[in-house]
Amino acid sequence: MTTVPQERRLVTPVPGPKSRELQARRTSVVAGGVGSVLPVFAARADGGILEDVDGNRLIDFGSGIAVTSVGASAEAVVRRASAQLADFTHTCFMVTPYEGYVEVCERLAELTPGDHAKKSALFNSGAEAVENAVKIARSYTKRQAVVVFDHGYHGRTNLTMALTSKNMPYKNGFGPFAPEIYRVPVAYGYRWPTGPENCGAEASAQAIDQISKQIGAGNVAAIIIEPVLGEGGFIEPAKGFLPALAKFAKDNGIVFVADEIQSGFCRTGQWFACEDEGIVPDLITTAKGIAGGLPLAAVTGRAEIMDSVHAGGLGGTYGGNPVACAAALGSIETMRELDLAGKAKRIETVMKDRLAAMAEKHELIGDIRGRGAMIAVELVKDRGTKEPAAEATAALAKACHAAGLLVLTCGTYGNVLRFLPPLVIGEDLLNEGLDIIEEALAGL
Ligand SMILES: *Cc1c(COP(=O)(O)O)cnc(C)c1O
Repeated sequence: MTTVPQERRLVTPVPGPKSRELQARRTSVVAGGVGSVLPVFAARADGGILEDVDGNRLIDFGSGIAVTSVGASAEAVVRRASAQLADFTHTCFMVTPYEGYVEVCERLAELTPGDHAKKSALFNSGAEAVENAVKIARSYTKRQAVVVFDHGYHGRTNLTMALTSKNMPYKNGFGPFAPEIYRVPVAYGYRWPTGPENCGAEASAQAIDQISKQIGAGNVAAIIIEPVLGEGGFIEPAKGFLPALAKFAKDNGIVFVADEIQSGFCRTGQWFACEDEGIVPDLITTAKGIAGGLPLAAVTGRAEIMDSVHAGGLGGTYGGNPVACAAALGSIETMRELDLAGKAKRIETVMKDRLAAMAEKHELIGDIRGRGAMIAVELVKDRGTKEPAAEATAALAKACHAAGLLVLTCGTYGNVLRFLPPLVIGEDLLNEGLDIIEEALAGL
């Protein structure tokens, strides 16, 4: 465990000279298609601070995209992963199994919604988990069509690119895409033509009508949705939307898949975001926050669905790597011990209060939304027309970076500033980060 001092410190411009030197080396050997939000090179990180190679300490409102919820070097993660590293690094679970994999699946069965019999399979990345959820749903239903939503994001592999909504940068030039994927509207309250009050009912009716007319419910293997849409702009589907789709799925023998890769593991103030509307998904995909930064992902779901796949049909060389499993057990232990779901709720209160005060002064803030420590502001040029303010969003992020606050943007229109602090961040750092946002807004 590192003991990174939990205070912001700027000793050079951001990025500093050492980062710039590394960036020059990087540019000559790392593929240009792999971007970085902020090219400061990391030296160590924990809690709410990321320290770079120049000795700058940045406040972290990104958590490596909602991954390091327990911090980037959490004691239990480091301890358990180190012990596992010393014992053995790999056997391949498909060759000779080990206890850590089983234990992670036991935790997933306990923690995910619903008290039915559950089973899991472990993988390396979120995209791989989503791909496998599709394989499992197709195998179980013997149907092919998969329904996804506007603004949805599910990964960058060929099948998950097809599931993902946004062209740039995720899909452009990378086709042809996998067939039998259908996209329907999502209940985006802020931009729903008749207003947020009607959005849940109208959007679900529209989505269900399109599925029924264009695909035929009897041909649909799976409906896949993020309970809070991540990359698409931290969109919380308006109330009633998720239950209506879950019911439609149930009534029609469709596997309802909650992609909780970003929203899961305490991020939104519950173990899983779909709990807020009492949704019990048939399958749930997890990754990101699950293992304190080590690559691990899972599909968890109803035993009869998971077991519909023939023996040997699921797997992968590294899926459920023992070091990643040990890290996951450390991460889950930390979430329980520190009540990180409760901490996420506290982060929401602090952030939303402060952001609401900023919105009173700054017309640029069109909407404040999200749950727990998954909070965003959508920025608009005009509150009436809601024209997206993408340039201002980029400028704000840049100003925050220069002041030592790592923030990320997202959204189909590139006009959403999103905040994903580690759940263990101290409240003083959280407020200092918000001060920086406030100053950046004033300085635009
Ligand atoms: C990040 C993400 C994925 C893809 O996960 P990778 O580990 O990057 O493959 C899929 N779904 C959601 C909702 C995500 O946020």
